Amino acid sequence: MKLITTIDNLPPVLAASVSAEERAYIEGISACNGLPFAVTPHFASLAGPEPEDPIRRQFMPDPREAQGDAFALNDPLGESYHRATPRLIHQYRDRALLKTTGFCGGFCRFCFRRVWMAEKTPFITAAELDPVLDYLNTHPEIREILISGGDPLTASDERLEWLFQGLRSANPALSLRVCTRLPITAPDRITSEFIGLLRRFSPLRLAVHINHPREFSAESRRVLTAITEAGIPVLVQTVLLKGVNDDTETLTALFRKCRDLGLIPYYLFQLDLAPGTAHFRVPLKQGLALYRELQGTLVPALMETDPVLPAYAVDLPGGGGKIRLSQDCIAGGKNRPGGRVYLLKDKNGKLWPYPAD
Ligand code: SF4
Repeated sequence: MKLITTIDNLPPVLAASVSAEERAYIEGISACNGLPFAVTPHFASLAGPEPEDPIRRQFMPDPREAQGDAFALNDPLGESYHRATPRLIHQYRDRALLKTTGFCGGFCRFCFRRVWMAEKTPFITAAELDPVLDYLNTHPEIREILISGGDPLTASDERLEWLFQGLRSANPALSLRVCTRLPITAPDRITSEFIGLLRRFSPLRLAVHINHPREFSAESRRVLTAITEAGIPVLVQTVLLKGVNDDTETLTALFRKCRDLGLIPYYLFQLDLAPGTAHFRVPLKQGLALYRELQGTLVPALMETDPVLPAYAVDLPGGGGKIRLSQDCIAGGKNRPGGRVYLLKDKNGKLWPYPAD
């Protein structure tokens, strides 16, 4: 996959927009084994040169990443507590998640698996898949597997077919959910052969990560339409990001565009606490107020057959799992050395701290 990994290979207008501070920070990333700078030519072409441009902000390394954050966690979802094999996470009874690769079509600066991605883990091997298949064999309660990463679509169709076949050999009824951002960042990856591959492995759903309505380029709209016309359900997950999509107009436009294209918005995620991402965090109370406004804006559409408004959710930091966010799940607040936290209730009433700001 073609990636831009140096400033000088960006489109000239973007390269000229990089400040001396940004350049020095980017050049220092590899020295400290941080999350690399990489973006696809397609995604870079959607960005404007202004530092606050919502597309540019998502891929351009920001010196604020180096600032300390008292709440940062190397494993913000607590996946290590639910690891069934080195690649398989089994946290919820009827579904599991497979980390297929540490590569993506560019690196989002707010990535929740930032530490894993910086390790540049290659695509899963046969030796790594074998224990996964053994586990699936002995856990028939797992009905669905999320094929995640990184981005599994950075692998070839042949590798993906091998993987899908392996998973189905362990459990022929297994539903597949393929998590990707490439229909947005590299739509030329979505060929008719690839769509044919997805069709052969039904029941299969694609979960596409989309954050801003400007990400719907003509090419992305074309391939997403081709996927839905092939009968493959497309779910959309969005991360709520300060300075990118933290306003009603942007999110309303995003979710309406999803509906127009036959896509199903299913999650709006509060940011996970990965290191170097705090400058993207929308304060929880502000996120809740924004979501209430969205409910007002998008409720008429909820009366229609296609849902438009996704669930506002967070992965409780440190392995508590996903919960839907609402005022009711905040059980109180506390001052901690790094700042104020809210205590969020999981479904069993257990409390988990999440920063207030
Ligand atoms: S697409 Fe997902 S896994 Fe890949 S860099 Fe972005 S947030 Fe991380």
